[in-house]
Amino acid sequence: MLEKRYLLTPGPVPCPPEVLAVMARPIVHHRSPDFVPAYARVLESLPRVLQTTNDVALFTSSGTGAMESAVANLCSPGDRVVVVSAGNFGERWATLAKAFGLELVHLKYGWGETPSADDVRARLAEVGGARAVFLTQCETSTGVVSDVQAMAAAAREAGALSIVDAISSLAAVPLETDAWGVDVVVAGSQKALMVPPGLALASISPAALEAAKASTSPRFYYDWQRTLAAQAKEPPGAPFTPAHTLVLGLDVALRLIFETGLDVIFDRHRRLGRAARAGVKAMGLELFSPDEDRSAVVTAIRMPEGIDGQAIYRAMRDRGVTGAGGQGELRGKIVRIGHIGYVDVYEVVAALDALEASLADAGAPIERGVAASAALAAYRA
Ligand SMILES: *Cc1c(COP(=O)(O)O)cnc(C)c1O
Repeated sequence: MLEKRYLLTPGPVPCPPEVLAVMARPIVHHRSPDFVPAYARVLESLPRVLQTTNDVALFTSSGTGAMESAVANLCSPGDRVVVVSAGNFGERWATLAKAFGLELVHLKYGWGETPSADDVRARLAEVGGARAVFLTQCETSTGVVSDVQAMAAAAREAGALSIVDAISSLAAVPLETDAWGVDVVVAGSQKALMVPPGLALASISPAALEAAKASTSPRFYYDWQRTLAAQAKEPPGAPFTPAHTLVLGLDVALRLIFETGLDVIFDRHRRLGRAARAGVKAMGLELFSPDEDRSAVVTAIRMPEGIDGQAIYRAMRDRGVTGAGGQGELRGKIVRIGHIGYVDVYEVVAALDALEASLADAGAPIERGVAASAALAAYRA
């Protein structure tokens, strides 16, 4: 059946046709000249996206694999670590810390709250001796983008390493790894890097690499030193067969990102966020994610009294627009629209219209016929 579908989830996201096209070519060998130059380009250009001179380890896994690599390489069983969480993905750091037998100090906020550097500083001072602080830049379950620059500074003052989950935010909102002194940034291919799921990466500061040499946590596939040693060879290689089809896609995606310019991309995400929020408010709905420019990755919308967000999200999908419902305790209470990567304002308008029509069908008291023009006006302003 011929049916156009719009993908506005918080990942995976649509991929540019150039990216999809290169991945449709016949399979090559990963240690041959058909592949190695593209691999070398990707390893060389990833630090530019991360705004770092640190090495970037590339893994075949979803983003969570890179999160696990950070815990396994930086910490030994019994190490005290601080996890800052305000939603599903922050809590994943806590789950990982427990799985690796770390002493977890959990600075746990309610879902939807915005963590503060002052709280991080106070908690670090209170507990003392923390080895690492695990942070989330965009808490994708709530749409909150937090000030990881200030929180990383608090970690550094306390002599702790800082680790930032930027899986949904890298190449969507600014993240200056070196200027902000962030030791480790983890990300995945299927969000603003505009490639299908399956690649994860970690940028690793010299201090983090030193910590990795001392860590006694068990690891094999995700061992940073093994990965970086293979990547440092001439020509560069991966210790194990990489998902090289995806690497070829990432090579093209990175070229498109640099041709466009990171600042242009950040500005587009900012304006897409404004468009989504303006449309939501024009309908008379309440935002769940903050009404602020830096929350430019995911817009979360609170459902009106008596309306089930899961039913709305499914009704939107039936209209051709795939967004997302709420996770965990927010299931049924919110609907999320991702505007990440290869998304334009007309797709945001499509999502708003599907939301509007689905809510109207469900009997919600909303203002009809105004969201699209409000969104376009906010985008263009
Ligand atoms: C998507 C996402 C993850 C999980 O990534 P997977 O690729 O599903 O493992 C982790 N953290 C954040 C902030 C995310 O948005």
